[in-house]
Amino acid sequence: MKLKVVSICLIVGTAFVSALLYFDSQKLVLSQCADEEKVETWVQFVFDYSILNDFSIEALEERIDEDLALSNLILANSCVPMIRKSAGYEFFDAHNAKPEDMLSSHYELNLQHSSLLERAYQEPNFYVVLVLSEDSSYFDFEYKIAETWVDLFPNFVVSDVRAGPLALEHELGHLAWAQHDLETLSSQVQGRTLESMTAEDNQLQIKRYAHAALCGDSGTIMSYEKNIVPIYSSPNITYQGRVCGDAESADNARLLTEYARALRAKVDARSW
Ligand SMILES: [Zn+2]
Repeated sequence: MKLKVVSICLIVGTAFVSALLYFDSQKLVLSQCADEEKVETWVQFVFDYSILNDFSIEALEERIDEDLALSNLILANSCVPMIRKSAGYEFFDAHNAKPEDMLSSHYELNLQHSSLLERAYQEPNFYVVLVLSEDSSYFDFEYKIAETWVDLFPNFVVSDVRAGPLALEHELGHLAWAQHDLETLSSQVQGRTLESMTAEDNQLQIKRYAHAALCGDSGTIMSYEKNIVPIYSSPNITYQGRVCGDAESADNARLLTEYARALRAKVDARSW
């Protein structure tokens, strides 16, 4: 079977290690957000058991808090009416079922935690993040540290435990159909179009403005820049005096806002 891959993600881990160190909040000018009810999204973590060889439970809980706090900062800075909350964590035995890619990760996780994936299937605001240990990870740490496949699994992320705290929102951004900056994306699709790599049912999800932006010496969360500003691309935000988006090509804040509103409508429709 030839796989159609839309957002296999190549995050260079070291890019995010230095990201916050270089970010200067004094030079970030945000826009005034409209007063709007925020939709809650729930993130369920599933850690490979062997992570416990290197991390305590307390450290994992701190990591969840840190990742979600950064996600919520990025959403708030970008005026996206959505918040991330922890749905808790479970453990996954990769000892006899070592995933080799996104498909086998989903398959193995379904064998061990079918109820979580069923919930992700039923509830559009519930996401499952599988975190693999260094030993069981199939990622090449130098080039790829986390990935999504939104076309096939719209609520599922696989990550390496070595991924930095920015990786979570970057991946959740892909699940809202946000893309990398145009230069990075064109080098990755190599002459193909996103449309040609996406199922027919999802063609309308591809938006011309759904790209990251570069501004000053940095880039927005979906970019591949060494320094990351904690925002989605937006023509209404500047960093170091440079605009961090473009209404035609780089407005992921708009994309995420539209995603959040659609999500809220779906969640409200489910409520009694
Ligand atoms: Zn990516």
